[in-house]
Amino acid sequence: MFVTLQDMLTAGFARMKLHRNLPAWLWIAGITLGRHVFVKALTTQNTVNHESVHVAQQERDGTIRFYLRYLFSGFWRARYEAEACVNELRSGVSLEALAKTISSSLYLWPCSYDKALMHLRAAQERM
Ligand SMILES: [Zn+2]
Repeated sequence: MFVTLQDMLTAGFARMKLHRNLPAWLWIAGITLGRHVFVKALTTQNTVNHESVHVAQQERDGTIRFYLRYLFSGFWRARYEAEACVNELRSGVSLEALAKTISSSLYLWPCSYDKALMHLRAAQERM
């Protein structure tokens, strides 16, 4: 269905309904519920790109399967986040910094730093 991550970005953007009303006090930058993407009023393009990949992931894998995997499997949560984060390499963020973020408390410690790097390198090959 999607060969490259650019395909996912394009599909995600085409389908997403963007809401810039996420409260500023929340610790998360954005959240995607089906086609609805909620971000803070002053968000970055990286965050919108990230969430658009989650829209495409739900289209590819099915929304229910996506959430079951995301919530109950560290492997899948890390894999989904690696796909969503890897575009940030284009804006100068390092692979190591992304691996540190993905393996952190922000995503409820889905995997080790090394496993996050592995997921990111796999996603990078599809850029
Ligand atoms: Zn994410």
